[in-house]
This record gives sequence, C-alpha cells and structure tokens, in this order.
Amino acid sequence: MASGILVFSEHDGGKIKKTAFELIAKAVSLNMGPVSAVVVGAADTSALGSYGATTVYTVSGDAFSSYTTGTYTKALAAVIAKADPAVVLGAASNLGKDLFPRLGARLGAGVITEATELSNDGGLVAHRPVYAGKALVTAKPSGLALVTVRPNSFGAPTAGSGSAEVVAVDAGVSAADAKVNVLESKKSDASVADLTEADKIVSAGRSIKTAEQYDSIIRPLAASIGATPGASRAAVDAGYAPHSHQVGQTGKVVNPNLYVALGISGAIQHLAGMRTSKVIVAVNKDPDAPIFAHATYGLVDDLFDVAPLLQKEFEAL
Ligand SMILES: Cc1cc2nc3c(=O)[nH]c(=O)nc-3n(C[C@H](O)[C@H](O)[C@H](O)COP(=O)(O)OP(=O)(O)OC[C@H]3O[C@@H](n4cnc5c(N)ncnc54)[C@H](O)[C@@H]3O)c2cc1C
Repeated sequence: MASGILVFSEHDGGKIKKTAFELIAKAVSLNMGPVSAVVVGAADTSALGSYGATTVYTVSGDAFSSYTTGTYTKALAAVIAKADPAVVLGAASNLGKDLFPRLGARLGAGVITEATELSNDGGLVAHRPVYAGKALVTAKPSGLALVTVRPNSFGAPTAGSGSAEVVAVDAGVSAADAKVNVLESKKSDASVADLTEADKIVSAGRSIKTAEQYDSIIRPLAASIGATPGASRAAVDAGYAPHSHQVGQTGKVVNPNLYVALGISGAIQHLAGMRTSKVIVAVNKDPDAPIFAHATYGLVDDLFDVAPLLQKEFEAL
C-alpha cells in the first residue's frame, strides 16, 4: 500500500536547491511515514539525509543534461512506481510548474499546485491561495497526490546528523523521450536567486521613472541585503526593468521572507504575486496607497530619499 512522502529535489548545476531541504523537513514533520527524495541528473545528494530523507532515489544519464518535460516525467514515473509514496512534493518553481501537471496526467493522479501550507489530518491536507490570494482552498486528495509548494512557505530548516541510503533507478530514459532538442539554455544572472525562490526581494514601481534609476538605485539596494530585484508591471511595460523581474498576476508569484515595495501602488494584480510575503515593507508618497493595507511596515515618503538611507543601513548590518 502506498505510504510516505517522496520529495522531488531540484538542483542547479548539481547543487541541491534549498527548497528541497525545506520540503523534506516539512515532510518529516507531517509524520506520514518514510520520507524519501528523488534527484534527476548528476548532483551532490549527500546533504539530503541530514534533513530527514531516509532514501534518495537517483536517476542519471546523458538524457538529463538539460531539463525536458518528457525525460523528467518518465524518470519520476519510474521512481514513483518503485517507491510507491502516498504523496509527492515539489517546489512551485518554473520546473515544478511544468513537470507536475504532466506527471499527473501520465499517472492519472490529482495535482495540487502552489500550496502554502500542508498538514496531516488522517491524510494530507493542503492549503492554496486562489483568486489572487483573496480566498484559501483547503484540499484533501484521494489516491496518489502530487503537490507543488511555494518556496519559503515553511522557513529554513536545520540540518541534523542523519544520512540516506542512495538507490540508483534505471528509468530507461533516452534522448528520444525528450521529444524536443534543447539547442541552448540561457541563465539569468546567477549571482541573485530566482524571484520565485528568493528569500528577499526589493521591487520598484512606475515611480522609479527610468531604467537608469532602476539600475543605479534598486539593483544596488537589493544587492546590499542579498535580495533579488523585482518590479511592477507598470515599471516593466515602461522598459525600466526586464520582464523576468515582473511580480504579479502576469509576472512571477513570489513568497519571500522580506518584500520591499518602493513606489508601488498595490494594485490587485501586483498583490496577486506577492501578498503571501512574510514581511512587506512599503514606501509610498501617497498615504492612501492600497499597498499600505497589506504592509507590515509602511513609510509615507519619497523613495528617492528613502532608498539611499535604507541602503546605508543594510550595508551596516
Ligand atoms: C490583466 C492584467 C494583468 C496585470 N498583471 C500585473 C502584474 O503581473 N504585475 C503588476 O505589478 N501589475 C499588473 N497589472 C497592472 C496593475 O493593474 C497596475 O497597473 C500596476 O501594478 C501599477 O504599477 P505601479 O504600482 O508601479 O504604478 P502606479 O499604479 O502608477 O503606482 C505608482 C505608485 O508610486 C507612488 N509614487 C510616485 N512617486 C513616488 C515617489 N517618488 N516615492 C514613493 N512613491 C511614489 C504613487 O503614489 C503610486 O502609488 C495587470 C493589469 C491587468 C489588467
């Protein structure tokens, strides 16, 4: 009978991402049976056991040099057949959002996306925001459940002293399973975390006024606390920041511990992408700006005066 939780553990060039450790630690705390991890492609899996995984399934080979939906779906389906888990967790990252629905279709399993809380009530219970975060769905899956979880939902776990048994799985995947040829992969700036996984984000709105000011004010301010720069759609549409920086309904959904919004009004479409942030700091000249209704800390002031002072304080930390 299916039991336990399998965590799809993403890696970046062989380095396991922190979201995998976060999910493994959460899976252990749910107390739903053995917790195992699956890693596809060549990666250093040694730390997974210290967060509570007792078995690490690895699937490797030339077919996994680049991500493709076809190869990863086949690999995960083979590991799920072997491990027989009740629940499979993965990050609601770009990759997870692509992979899990396809896996659900392949296995005829239910998929819950973008969960922000998980609990055990005689079986898994997942909570996920809907309607731009205005309502919360509580879902209890029946049968095998595939669940993607927003990064940073549970906080940074502490490593213990455990270790995991590593089991190599031959999933019979070949390049032909890719169905596409990946010609080139272009990485965004590797020095900052991807917005969807960032722990801290500093975002600017239309009020930043020029791309030069975005580059000379927002990027250095973000860098001073190791944050990822973000932007509202108005700032992106005006050409001040690249589209990859857009937060919101038609941009990226983020879930950082700290979200600094400089000169952003707080339109519903922007809130849809960041309202689950743990701490929101808003700076806006207009005391009636909607963002203040969602801010943990609000400052009615000019961002051009506040940004340099903030940067000085961040650098002093
Ligand atoms: C279908 C659809 C999808 C959308 N998707 C998105 C999305 O994904 N992301 C998104 O962000 N938006 C999205 N939008 C657009 C959204 O409705 C807003 O237009 C947008 O978020 C506004 O961006 P803003 O807050 O930067 O600009 P504005 O609404 O113009 O607000 C600027 C704010 O800056 C303040 N300000 C001005 N100067 C200063 C200063 N010097 N110092 C401090 N404060 C100052 C003003 O008081 C104001 O509150 C979408 C809209 C639609 C219709």
